[in-house]
This record gives sequence, structure tokens and C-alpha cells, in this order.
Amino acid sequence: MSVELEELYQEVILDHARRPRNFGELANAAVLVHGDNPACGDEIHLGVRFGPDGSLQDIKFSGHGCAISQASASMMTTKLKGKTRAEATELLRAFQDLVTGETTKQSQNLGDLLLMQGVQKFPQRVKCAMLAWRAFEQALQQTAGESTVSTETDFSNSGFRTASPLG
Ligand code: ZN
Repeated sequence: MSVELEELYQEVILDHARRPRNFGELANAAVLVHGDNPACGDEIHLGVRFGPDGSLQDIKFSGHGCAISQASASMMTTKLKGKTRAEATELLRAFQDLVTGETTKQSQNLGDLLLMQGVQKFPQRVKCAMLAWRAFEQALQQTAGESTVSTETDFSNSGFRTASPLG
């Protein structure tokens, strides 16, 4: 493993990957989003329940995949729980900026998620880190129901996935 990769898999990230927080199925989830990153084989199932004021009352995920995808989901749920939609949207943008190489003022609000900054050197890993957040972005756009998002958006829009013998 290269030094850069070792830095990437820091202790905190590995800890989240091994013992993910907010892991499991969310009872009475208002929104369920299935996120798929076929480039790496990561899957995230995100459940969100909104409070009467529209805030993120509860958020849980399940799934499997590489350490970065699972740790990012774990850290994301920890960060987002209890936040308002506006706060959550701000964190989403800040995280997106962070992993694509743009550090802004908002970056400081990300806390432990700042450790994910290392992925910006690895374009494939950016998809892993963003998977849970893509699912969350979709969850914010729908107040109820179930949907699927993919990091390979061209495939999901063209019907490639349903046509594939691999399912
Ligand atoms: Zn991955």
C-alpha cells in the first residue's frame, strides 16, 4: 500500500468502516434511497425520517462495500442527524467541494469528515466517498417513497442496468 493510501485509510475512517454508526434498517423511514457505485461494487441503503419541523429526525444506513464508502456513510449519518434541511444541504455541498478538491469556509463544519479529503487524489475513490451523499441528496428531493441512485448516472438513465444479465 502506498504512503498516500495509508494516509487515506486513517484510523478514524477504518474505525467507522469496522463499526459503522447508525447502521441498520430505519423503522418508519419516510424515504428510502438505494445508492449504487458499480465502479467499486459499493451499495448503500439509506433511510431517513423527517421531524414535524422538517429536520432530519433520524437517519440510518445499511449496505456493503469498500472501507471508504461505508465509513463515509457512517460519518455522514452521525453528522446529519438532527440537522435542518438547510444545514444538511450546506454540509452536502461542503463535503462535495472537499472531496473534489475545493476547501471552502464551510469545510470546517465537516469535523471528522475532513479526513476524507485524501480521496481527491483518487477519482474512483471520490465516487465511493460520495455514494452515501448522493443517496442523501436524492432523499432531500423526495419527501416520501423509495428510489435508486447510481454514481454511473448514464447507466441508470439509459436502462442499462435492467437490461444487464448481471442485474
Ligand atoms: Zn468503493
